Amino acid sequence: LSAPLSDIAIARQARKAPITQVASRLAIPEEAVIPYGRDKAKIDGAFLRSIEDRPAGRLILVTAINPTPAGEGKTTTTVGLGDGLSRIGKRVAIALREPSLGPCFGQKGGAAGGGYAQVVPMEDINLHFTGDFHAITAAHNLLAAMVDNHIHWGNALGIDPRRVLWRRVVDMNDRALRDIVQSLGGPANGLPRESGFDITVASEVMAILCLARDLEDLEARLGRIVVAERADRSFVTARDLKADGAMAALLRDAMMPNLVQTLENTPAFVHGGPFANIAHGCNSVAATRAALRLADYVVTEAGFGADLGAEKFFDIKCRQAGLKPDATVVVATVRALKMNGGVARAELGREDVDAVRRGAANLRRHVENCLGFGVPVIVAINHFTSDTQAEIGAVREAAAASGVEAVLCRHWAEGSAGIVELAEKVAALADGGTARFHPLYGDALPLREKIEAVVRRIYRGAAVSIDPPVLRTLDRYAEAGFADLPVCMAKTPYSFSTDPSLLGAPEGHAVHVREVRLSAGAGFVVAICGDVLTMPGLPRVPAAESIRLDEEGRVEGLF
Ligand code: ADP
Ligand code: MG
Repeated sequence: LSAPLSDIAIARQARKAPITQVASRLAIPEEAVIPYGRDKAKIDGAFLRSIEDRPAGRLILVTAINPTPAGEGKTTTTVGLGDGLSRIGKRVAIALREPSLGPCFGQKGGAAGGGYAQVVPMEDINLHFTGDFHAITAAHNLLAAMVDNHIHWGNALGIDPRRVLWRRVVDMNDRALRDIVQSLGGPANGLPRESGFDITVASEVMAILCLARDLEDLEARLGRIVVAERADRSFVTARDLKADGAMAALLRDAMMPNLVQTLENTPAFVHGGPFANIAHGCNSVAATRAALRLADYVVTEAGFGADLGAEKFFDIKCRQAGLKPDATVVVATVRALKMNGGVARAELGREDVDAVRRGAANLRRHVENCLGFGVPVIVAINHFTSDTQAEIGAVREAAAASGVEAVLCRHWAEGSAGIVELAEKVAALADGGTARFHPLYGDALPLREKIEAVVRRIYRGAAVSIDPPVLRTLDRYAEAGFADLPVCMAKTPYSFSTDPSLLGAPEGHAVHVREVRLSAGAGFVVAICGDVLTMPGLPRVPAAESIRLDEEGRVEGLF
């Protein structure tokens, strides 16, 4: 048996269609296609405005069980399902996040799908792509520069320099920049103070770009960003600093959705990439809405497991954008279920049906949670070569016990041919008209009770503890007019609880909210439970060590 080809080797063999031809599959006229080279394009904003009134296609969310550290194949399955729907004759578009450079050079290697279910050109998508993240970095840091400059020139707004909330960003895993002292070197360099950098995908500007409907909404949201507090704890905004206009100008092109294609030439919008912990973890509303007006079926992904990703997709993205999902696909893998059943990572290759059964409690919990949003669910078993028949049978039984079907998918190894059954069943489910989407809680519920609703009904925790100073901060947000915002939970992706080692389906645990942050422009209040890094570090052996150019100048080492 020869070793399977690497993702990048498969991607290199792709028979890419010219990007205008990919666009024509969605009847996008050539003049609305703004090519970035031959195989990437942005879609013109004026054209997208002209199709606003078209009826929306079916929206299909791909989410997953709690992942292993390697990921469970949500992106791979989103791409595979898109190709599968294409194969059975449907007009389909895929909507995915853009990968961040940080994880690319760190652990993950790449995030454009895998095997025979990938979006291409994968090197570009994983590296600079169309420059959106650089534009976001620039817009974010412009605001930071304007905050310090304002203080330097007399501080007319009365910013308390000890309460500047706006940090700087760079799209790199760089722990050295997490906490810094800035403005050293004398009065000409400003007022020395502690600050730090976050990774670009953790920037509120990223979340804003991904939730804004259009350029007007973008500028209004940028203006609402809270950058600092005054001594009386009142908020200073980007609008107060008159930074919103220039930031929007920097972001004009970045707001236009990017179009690429899968290995099988299915159109894929890859646009925006907010963190799934302190932000909502989905591709842009602009891309999703465009896709829904251009295709009959749109397949999209939410980050992490369904406890974080699907909950935020429903409660933040769908709520804010008025989206009505028609079906949810929960991706499960035998290896992740085994891990949830207590098997160590090194032992995952060995058959263990009992562990799959134990771990399936995790799958059942996610399925039941997703059904709770009023959207029908189907389970996709993302097949790995080490899976056995008995293990797969155990997954099917678990899904059936929760009243849903599980379908085995081989898209990673076979492309669309391996996922026809899922595509047919998802199309039928989405067309069935049974979805009655509703978010978990209403806008009017107090912020504290919104946090409690997620903890009790999604995480199945018994108690929420919020320290008194944090509660007072929530009260201040409410008094300042932000009581109606949804909450954005930041916790470990590995467990329903806040303890990453508590796998399976724990219940009755306590959840401690140690900090809350206002993202007034994005339109949510972040509740931080446990340790959440907004500037990751590189591992001991970073993926960057094996990324290089070959003799022909092609990128090697992305996977
Ligand atoms: P997620 O989106 O859930 O984080 P990805 O789709 O990015 O996961 O997949 C994570 C990694 O696992 C990728 O490198 C991908 O190539 C690999 N992978 C996904 N599905 C399979 C499979 N069925 N067999 C082997 N490797 C897979
Ligand atoms: Mg993914």
